[in-house]
Amino acid sequence: MEQELQLVADFDFDMIVDFFSRLNRQGPGSQQVTRQALSFIGELSDNAKIADIGCGSGGQTITLAENTKGQITAIDLFPKMITLLKERAIRHGLSDRISGIAVSMENLPFEPGELNLIWAEGSIYNIGFERGLREWKQFLKPEGMIAVSEVSWLTDTRPDEIEQFWNFNYAEIDTISNKIKKMEEAGYTPVAHFILPEYCWLDCFYKPMQENIPLFLEKYKNSTPAQQLVQRELDEIDYYRKYKSYYGYVFYIGMKNE
Ligand code: SAM
Repeated sequence: MEQELQLVADFDFDMIVDFFSRLNRQGPGSQQVTRQALSFIGELSDNAKIADIGCGSGGQTITLAENTKGQITAIDLFPKMITLLKERAIRHGLSDRISGIAVSMENLPFEPGELNLIWAEGSIYNIGFERGLREWKQFLKPEGMIAVSEVSWLTDTRPDEIEQFWNFNYAEIDTISNKIKKMEEAGYTPVAHFILPEYCWLDCFYKPMQENIPLFLEKYKNSTPAQQLVQRELDEIDYYRKYKSYYGYVFYIGMKNE
């Protein structure tokens, strides 16, 4: 869903949320990748406080809860996502560990120095990578950890078509080395980074999305806005298939400096 909100800004937000809330996750990722990123985070205690920002319907939240200790506060702008997240937490018997709040990542409800870990899978782009890293740092304890996944260039050069696509949709896309530099400049020690494998896009995100399209179109009676939304998603999938050697999602893990 990374550029959709911008691409389809003229669409009905309820319809967009409905489109994506049908999916187990709203962006590229997998349980395995969440666990891999978690492997770089030190042991957390039962008192640990974790924020899962831009949680969507909780694709990663359950994996986080199953592989950490402490309390997780999951945040999403859209109440529908928080409802789905809470239902999911109940289904997994984790509602005592996971709470959900519908609020913007631009206005987080945490106290300074409260959090041990900030998690944001495929969502920091909504506030912007640099701004998110800088603004959220205040909520981390000294040496608190942050883990975010973010679309990044995988090569130093690339064809004009894909360069223009991303510059239009998310101009903050950058190379991995520049992203790491920005993390350092924002006051973190980079701890690890890794590129999400293709299956996180194709099997875990795009495949279920494509499978849901017929039901979605049926619900909206093939309306023009629904068809346009679907077409934009299909175009995005085509772009990924064509240019996946040039861009991808990268997990960046860092530790607050002071
Ligand atoms: N982390 C989930 C995942 O990987 O499945 C969702 C990723 S989805 C690409 C981005 C999420 O950010 C969406 O659930 C969207 O509703 C949420 N979002 C968008 N703008 C937001 C904002 N200003 N504050 C909080 N969440 C926001």
